[in-house]
Amino acid sequence: MIRRHVTMHTGECPTCGESFSYRDREEAPNRPFCSRRCREIDLGKWLNEEYRVCDPVRPNDDHLVPPETDDAEPVE
Ligand SMILES: [Zn+2]
Repeated sequence: MIRRHVTMHTGECPTCGESFSYRDREEAPNRPFCSRRCREIDLGKWLNEEYRVCDPVRPNDDHLVPPETDDAEPVE
């Protein structure tokens, strides 16, 4: 008689550091996170970092653009 050995995998959530165990992938759809919440937190973290990196460095020229009042008609 062959006894089926159920292997339990363990993981440590990168977000909250909580260790959790699961039997198979279907049981842990949020791997390597312990929960969907932690996965979303991590995702948000990445997105925020991406936003920060992609945030355009605005040259100060923006503030130095001369007003185009010379050509425009004066507005009262
Ligand atoms: Zn977690």
